Amino acid sequence: MWNGKNKALTFSYDDGVESDRKLVSIFNKYGMKCTFNLNSALMTPESTWEMNGFTVRRMPPEGLPELYKGHEIAVHCTTHADLTKLSDEEVRREVLEDKSALEKLFGTKITGMAYPYGAFDDRIIGILRECGIKFSRTCEDSHGFGVPENLLAFGATCRHESDDLFELLDKFLAYSGTEPAVFCLRGHSYEFDAHDNWRIIEEFCEKAAFREDIFYGTNSQIYKL
Ligand SMILES: [Zn+2]
Repeated sequence: MWNGKNKALTFSYDDGVESDRKLVSIFNKYGMKCTFNLNSALMTPESTWEMNGFTVRRMPPEGLPELYKGHEIAVHCTTHADLTKLSDEEVRREVLEDKSALEKLFGTKITGMAYPYGAFDDRIIGILRECGIKFSRTCEDSHGFGVPENLLAFGATCRHESDDLFELLDKFLAYSGTEPAVFCLRGHSYEFDAHDNWRIIEEFCEKAAFREDIFYGTNSQIYKL
């Protein structure tokens, strides 16, 4: 399935904030591959918000291609708008302008996306198809390892703060069946800072890394797009 392996591990992290720097260094240490979903019109340090006393800060575009090297960049819409509240034309603009700005910044073709707020419907899916988007992640987690049928509205396995995270990981690591299995972990790096729980991702990566029977790839490498 993937280089002869039938288990694949991937990550999906959103918003492009300063905490991504530490997250990337952890992923790189363990050979993990992540898809980072970014908002091109919000790449300024003035774009901040508070979470649990921690100031979440977005990153400026300078240096981002170096930071995210080896990982995948995907669309998260220019201004992180709730697409279900916009007209067709506005949705097209949120998607296409983000896609082309990110393609220019990173010098690569972009085909992936994550829905801001997880908000989508059939109308939005139709527009994404016209915009050349091949896969888009929702916030509806599967708590399983099935290969998604509809890549334009696929769920991750779970969030890193999900109660069953390590139970699911143990199940995935022990799995030796013939059906392909994908573990997709999603979240926001600022949650590790705001909740002081970086150990979750360190522990997850340490347990899951460097296994002969697992393919480590970005979302598009796993879904072969
Ligand atoms: Zn977001």
